[in-house]
Amino acid sequence: MNNAAELAYFGGGKTITNPLEPMKTIETEEINAANRVLETGILSAFIGADGPGFLGGKEVKNLESKASTIFGVKHVLSVNSWTSGLIAAVGAIGLEPGDEVITTPWTMAATATAIIHWNGIPIFADIDPITFNISVESVSQVVTKKTKAIIAVDIFGKPCDGPGLRKYADSKGIFLITDSAQAPGILNASDNRVVGTHAHIGGFSLNYHKHIHCGEGGLVVTDSDELAERVALIRNHGEAVISSNDKKRLSNIVGYNFRLGEIEAAIASSQLDKLSSRVADRRRVAQLLYEGLIGLAGIEIEKDITKGPHAFYVFGMRLNVKLLDVERRQIITALTAEGVEGLMSGYQNIHLLPMFRNKIAYGHKGFPWTLSPSDHPIEYQPGLCPVAEELHNQSFIGLNICLHRYNNLEIEETIAAFHKVWANMDGVRRI
Ligand SMILES: *Cc1c(COP(=O)(O)O)cnc(C)c1O
Repeated sequence: MNNAAELAYFGGGKTITNPLEPMKTIETEEINAANRVLETGILSAFIGADGPGFLGGKEVKNLESKASTIFGVKHVLSVNSWTSGLIAAVGAIGLEPGDEVITTPWTMAATATAIIHWNGIPIFADIDPITFNISVESVSQVVTKKTKAIIAVDIFGKPCDGPGLRKYADSKGIFLITDSAQAPGILNASDNRVVGTHAHIGGFSLNYHKHIHCGEGGLVVTDSDELAERVALIRNHGEAVISSNDKKRLSNIVGYNFRLGEIEAAIASSQLDKLSSRVADRRRVAQLLYEGLIGLAGIEIEKDITKGPHAFYVFGMRLNVKLLDVERRQIITALTAEGVEGLMSGYQNIHLLPMFRNKIAYGHKGFPWTLSPSDHPIEYQPGLCPVAEELHNQSFIGLNICLHRYNNLEIEETIAAFHKVWANMDGVRRI
């Protein structure tokens, strides 16, 4: 390959000529599992009342007990999405409306809206520029006496400091919830426990784009009997199940239908068998990318990232745009023209979404923020999370490696495209 060849953007040959195949992880086992359930005719066995159907049917229970063995956690509760799981988790800890919950600006919107759902006030801690996760340090900068919980995320598949955050939460008498949607089955380096199990409540997504999936679904994990019961109640019309007048138990149990179907549960159970090989495959892709890109001047990747725990939902990097004397936009355009797929320029800054900046979650009068004490106004403006904002605006570049199935040649071509663009940086500056 000729690195000095003309950039595809200016009419030169594209480095990658065959489009990548979309990720496809449904195989014979999943098809058989779905058919097995279809033949029984019982596509859901949940009943929204006290009794044998309250915890679901055979496939749901089978999935949950298998997952609890694999993850090494006492309770696993399946749900119809991890968004539902997050809502159930926040409901289970029993927020008082107006309580603050600290979370990260770099996550999927559902992490923050689950807080709003129970009239909690999301408070954003800044992320670390290397791991892209919040830390004990950044959380401790925004904690107040109104803080009731922390929701940390293992963003891109990189575990957050679960053990450290749990210790911190316990020292403050608050809850830790973790969102491991992007890091299923990953062990935390310090204690070899599966991420998600350090929290009071953790969980994973089974959405189509995640490492393992059943279309839509999620798994909530907890070692607490009490929290598991509350999640089960929120999942399945809890208010109809608790018929006593016990006010303490009923508080915050507005139940929903967050139940997973039997077909999805059977598919998810087959997918669980493949979790470790899926993660290993993603790590193979990441290892090749790391080796191929780390030597390029102005590309910054966490040192030895592929040696530590990571599920590589996304391969995240930073560009030293000053050193390169180029804008990220120009690099992305050049790489896209070469045929590189799944490039990400920046990531969400949830705190700057219109809902937060304008405080228009429910109605137009600022609810639930109007529940904050008047001496403690909450504002979401640029500058609130400077590290996250700088990364989003200027220097973050990622490869969405969850979208495609890469063979080794396809990764080599992706790396070659970067090298070609880097060898032609003068041209890139003219884009
Ligand atoms: C995918 C995802 C969710 C939501 O999961 P769903 O199952 O799609 O509802 C939440 N948080 C993070 C970090 C995610 O990646």
